[in-house]
Amino acid sequence: MVGPGFQPASGGRDLADNRQMRLTCLAVFVLTLVQAATATRPDEQAFADAVNQQDLQRYVRELVAFGPRMGGTPSNDKSAAYLADFFERHRLDVALQEDPPALAHSETSWRVALEDGSVLESAWPFGFSASTSGERQGKLLLVEDFSKATPSEEWRGRVIYTPGSVGRAYAAIVKSGFLPAAILSSAPNDPTRYVDWSRLSSLPSSASNPVPAFSVSYVDGRTLASAAQAGRSVRVSLDATIREGRGKSVIATLRGDNADAYYLVCAHGDSDSGGPGADDNASGVATVMEIARVYSSLVQSGNVPRPKYSIRFAVWGAEYRSARTFIETEGAKLSGLKGVLNFDETGTGAERDAIYFESNDVPWNEALLRTFEAVAGDYAGRPGFWTEYTTNPSQGGTDSYAFLPRQYKGTGQTTLQIPATTIYTAAWDKLAELDQLAGWESKGTADPRKLKIDYSLYYHSSADTPENTTEREPQNMVRAVKVTGLALLRLNR
Ligand SMILES: [Zn+2]
Repeated sequence: MVGPGFQPASGGRDLADNRQMRLTCLAVFVLTLVQAATATRPDEQAFADAVNQQDLQRYVRELVAFGPRMGGTPSNDKSAAYLADFFERHRLDVALQEDPPALAHSETSWRVALEDGSVLESAWPFGFSASTSGERQGKLLLVEDFSKATPSEEWRGRVIYTPGSVGRAYAAIVKSGFLPAAILSSAPNDPTRYVDWSRLSSLPSSASNPVPAFSVSYVDGRTLASAAQAGRSVRVSLDATIREGRGKSVIATLRGDNADAYYLVCAHGDSDSGGPGADDNASGVATVMEIARVYSSLVQSGNVPRPKYSIRFAVWGAEYRSARTFIETEGAKLSGLKGVLNFDETGTGAERDAIYFESNDVPWNEALLRTFEAVAGDYAGRPGFWTEYTTNPSQGGTDSYAFLPRQYKGTGQTTLQIPATTIYTAAWDKLAELDQLAGWESKGTADPRKLKIDYSLYYHSSADTPENTTEREPQNMVRAVKVTGLALLRLNR
């Protein structure tokens, strides 16, 4: 079989030169063999053809419409019901998992406005901010370095604006008893990042934090600094609920020939920042949904054989916590887990157009990540696939690490050597440079030794919306579905 890019040796040569002719024929033969070996297998072609970009975009919009989907909140309940229905419709066996009760927060409405009525559109409540029970008004007080400031009588009843972060200073305020009406923070207060949207944050997990706090953008921070100097007031209101709830996870199974051994394809279903969470992590959830839909329908239609190992699709109610619950619930059955394929942020990328496969420093990830790398290499540059790809060392901070030991930034929940990777197109909020591990230099990246790990401009922010991420560059999710689907086909042969 000859691929579409193949061009036979053309004329213009002296055909009487038999030696040259034989060499040419040999070269053509070898090239044909190589191309035949790398030609698309029918099952891989069928999988790639079935991936639907519009569906992926729609899943993200539908998930974000439920709210932040934080574990144990009403929007988690709604998204879990939606996912259970989705997986059932695609004829998978669905189970629900509940975490132990934990304090959870949800916010239904809020308003932060200057006394002239102009609303600060970027304002977003910190997690675990209590309701204001109506509107609070206070004269603005600018506190430049909030973490080092000493609360005083002057703070009582004021609305404090700080360009700094709130962090541990909150406990000092509560202890002092000089309680402001509210705190507004534009941290990281960086004129190049979070300019028009706010970086989200949280107060300590408690149902009795006495002072509500809000994040605002850099630009709104400038407005507040001027208003504070002019002696203006601010009005704030917040309607929030803080109570114990159980994070609900949905786990759907595509049965394999060997039902006891399985791959786990997962993503955290909460936004974890308390914001819209389109990229982080509705994109990851959509990726899980689309792999499940395509794989299941191809098995049913007979275009793809039933997998050798079962595939379990999990959408966690709460990042880390629900994966921990899963590990505890599985008990001895966890020894059947052949690999964890986790998705976190497959919906955007600020500077690169790359896809990453994480944790090549974990020795028992070798076979799994070599499979991903082989798929990535085989399809790189083809229309509808990717160009830039690489594996990278462990960075921590997502659910694959619930399955890894502490030496690889894991939580050490299990001592089993379970292969666990995260597939993503962005991580964190600025470009990271990582030294590649020797032996893992990739053909898919410009500098194979010094990796550039892409990030999201909207990371943990009020602007992590479908419009800014998955609607703008839906190709990221498509690539994550294709590379993982094809890798699963190879792992299940
Ligand atoms: Zn995440």
